[in-house]
Amino acid sequence: MNYQFEMSKEFAEKLDLDDKLASFRERFYLPKDSIYVNGNSLGLLPKDGEETLLRVLEEWKTLAVKGWMSAELPWFYQAEKLGEKAAELVGATADEVVATGTTTINLHALVSSFYQPEGKKTKILADELNFPTDIYALQSQVKLKGLNPQEHLIIVKSDDGITIDENKIIEMMTDEIALIVLPAVLFRSSQLLDIRRVTEEAHKRGILIGWDCSHSVGVVPHHFDEWGVDFAFWCSYKYLNAGPGSSAFIYVNKKHFGLEAALTGWFGYVKEKQFEMNLNFEQSNTAGGWQISSPSILGSAALEGALNITLEAGIENIREKSLKMTSYLIYLVQNLLTDTPYNFSIGTPLVEERRGGHVALEHNNAQTISRKLMERGVIHDFRPPNIIRITPCALNNTFVEIWKITNYIKEIMD
Ligand SMILES: *Cc1c(COP(=O)(O)O)cnc(C)c1O
Repeated sequence: MNYQFEMSKEFAEKLDLDDKLASFRERFYLPKDSIYVNGNSLGLLPKDGEETLLRVLEEWKTLAVKGWMSAELPWFYQAEKLGEKAAELVGATADEVVATGTTTINLHALVSSFYQPEGKKTKILADELNFPTDIYALQSQVKLKGLNPQEHLIIVKSDDGITIDENKIIEMMTDEIALIVLPAVLFRSSQLLDIRRVTEEAHKRGILIGWDCSHSVGVVPHHFDEWGVDFAFWCSYKYLNAGPGSSAFIYVNKKHFGLEAALTGWFGYVKEKQFEMNLNFEQSNTAGGWQISSPSILGSAALEGALNITLEAGIENIREKSLKMTSYLIYLVQNLLTDTPYNFSIGTPLVEERRGGHVALEHNNAQTISRKLMERGVIHDFRPPNIIRITPCALNNTFVEIWKITNYIKEIMD
């Protein structure tokens, strides 16, 4: 988009008046006396989420075990129903998405099944800027297959420490690669990878590919089916605002429904027959087949309301406002803080199609500046060595808040 921004506070106020998502702000609990721009770490509690959480608590009180079948959203079907809601956000059909487990556990459940070293194809390709837990998990998955991660986990390096060049990923798709696991959005720089292109290139070479969308679902629309993504997983406590420790998601493309889950448990059983309690495992022919254990009903209760509010606002509207907010933040920083003596730089792609939901501000003294910014009530985070991450949330931040943050930073520097 070609925005025409201006530096004044009045202009920020005008942007807020023009904001068609503005009314969603009052549907969140906002921390007192602060500006919260940390939703890429933990999203704020939506009142809709509080409502569904309290409802489930009440159902436990009054229905007890009958809640499994008689709750408003019967607990037995909660994982599938929440998956159905989330499917809309990622361009999937209802049976391809399920709310279950947690992010790293889901990575294990999926990779143990999709990573089948065979003949020459024995290696996993990943990147050095991924969230460390993914790399730890991939190392152990390689070991579980009796192989050495030093040789069989291939890591694409970053040239600038900020971004990963897709051409480099594609160059490294050799005939020894069995599986690729990448983040959709890098957690430091907010670079959004070209999921469609990388997926197509992997498939041309007979390589399976899975995406960690923890930093993208809820802020960036996805079209997994259209893009032919093999599998994906993501958390719900960042841009989906479902609360700490809430259930994560699994997406499995239909074409893989026959594939055997490697870590099986009774919740992956064919739903209608689960309570027949047979000892022969019969896997559900849906993404639900990768479930292992009883779902965390209370842990996912706020997710119901949180997904409702996201769907109500519309993921395309959220993306549009999010990009406008990050572009505005970048504009203010470039005009106020990049020249000497301030010397900030933007560690996030300037091109919108390459950007996720946050902006990384880089500075040699980022840690000290971050502390001072916290003292002024700007709740954000610092990522070593030199990054201040600012995440304007389309559902609950204002343009005036962004204006204030950049002016606070200028005051701190002055
Ligand atoms: C936040 C995040 C995780 C978190 O993993 P948990 O298992 O939920 O603790 C994993 N991967 C990425 C890319 C993330 O951004």
